[in-house]
Amino acid sequence: MRTQVAIIGAGPAGLLLSHLLAADGVESVVLETRSREYVAARIRAGLLESSTVDVLAGCGLDGRLREQGLEHRGIYLQWPEERHHLDFVDLVGRSVWVYGQTEVTRDLVAARDAAGQQFVYEISDTALHDLDGDCPYVTYVDIDGREQRLDVDAIAGCDGSFGPSRKAIPSSVGRTWERTYPFAWFGILADVAPSTDELIYAWHAEGFALHSMRSESVSRLYLQVSPDTDPATWSDDQIWEALARRLGHGQNGWELHPGPITDRSVLPMRSYVYEPMRYGQLFLAGDAAHIVPPTGAKGLNLAVADVALLAPALAAMINKGDRGAADSYSDRALRRVALHALLVVDDDHAAHTRRRL
Ligand SMILES: Cc1cc2nc3c(=O)[nH]c(=O)nc-3n(C[C@H](O)[C@H](O)[C@H](O)COP(=O)(O)OP(=O)(O)OC[C@H]3O[C@@H](n4cnc5c(N)ncnc54)[C@H](O)[C@@H]3O)c2cc1C
Repeated sequence: MRTQVAIIGAGPAGLLLSHLLAADGVESVVLETRSREYVAARIRAGLLESSTVDVLAGCGLDGRLREQGLEHRGIYLQWPEERHHLDFVDLVGRSVWVYGQTEVTRDLVAARDAAGQQFVYEISDTALHDLDGDCPYVTYVDIDGREQRLDVDAIAGCDGSFGPSRKAIPSSVGRTWERTYPFAWFGILADVAPSTDELIYAWHAEGFALHSMRSESVSRLYLQVSPDTDPATWSDDQIWEALARRLGHGQNGWELHPGPITDRSVLPMRSYVYEPMRYGQLFLAGDAAHIVPPTGAKGLNLAVADVALLAPALAAMINKGDRGAADSYSDRALRRVALHALLVVDDDHAAHTRRRL
């Protein structure tokens, strides 16, 4: 098979990239190890920054978001006995939207299906070849066990933190910064209306807690725990009691309403930044190049920001032979990543980032 861009990974980065490339007349094939159903049902991020909403609006993908998403002016920061509202709109003129990654994925898949996008699901043994030449290609084994080869002009590595794209770059070329934190978040989804109109970030002597939400009827809550916590050992009552204490149930008449817990998991906290985000004809985007812990709700937003830079850069390179934006892609994308990573990665990286900026 031949196409212009092989997109490895059908997460938000890969799906959005295929959409933006098509708008610029660039053909792509999206390769994915998981099934279509698995990709559509995956529950992850839930908070969209205004820049992400702007990108989705710019390509006509904000219809359901504006109907069903919840626009928030800001967040609450609290510690025992005190809660303060931080109004982003007053402070910086921008709001945030609660709209699940599952919904973003559904909108993107629907748009790509309607446009006849080529997807190849349930592949294995994905491998990238000849990245530093003019004729790169990807090989994989399809769902029927047949070996396949896809020849392309460029490869977009949108395959998350464990995919093969980043690993295909020679180790002598790349640099990484990584920090693993000594705590984790115990996250639950509950079928209960949120007990708050906007997110509550709470400091407590027992540990941090966050009251977030996915919709008007589904709440998402987190407790800071030790990374070795087994979520199965906590009863539902224990979880709700810890949340009530840390979030200040009863404080100034505020109440936390418990409900049936439908999902629970412990999320390790890790920061990871890889540079460069481009090697030859391979371009990395999203979690393939950087991971930030869920504390700042940044991952999905950074993935969208990468793709908003990458799509026009690839289109200019492929349609007009203009390599300028492709050549500067890594530096421009990392500048935004670094601004966020600066807060969370180690001192060496912070110093290096300051020099770059
Ligand atoms: C529990 C949780 C909560 C989060 N909350 C937030 C939040 O509130 N806000 C926020 O902005 N971010 C959040 N994030 C982060 C966000 O979900 C990720 O940053 C986002 O999914 C990145 O998108 P991506 O497309 O780069 O990578 P992914 O979504 O990881 O997609 C990569 C795709 O590549 C596929 N793939 C992997 N290997 C191969 C291969 N060999 N061949 C082909 N395909 C392959 C994978 O199956 C996957 O479909 C959260 C993450 C988690 C886990």
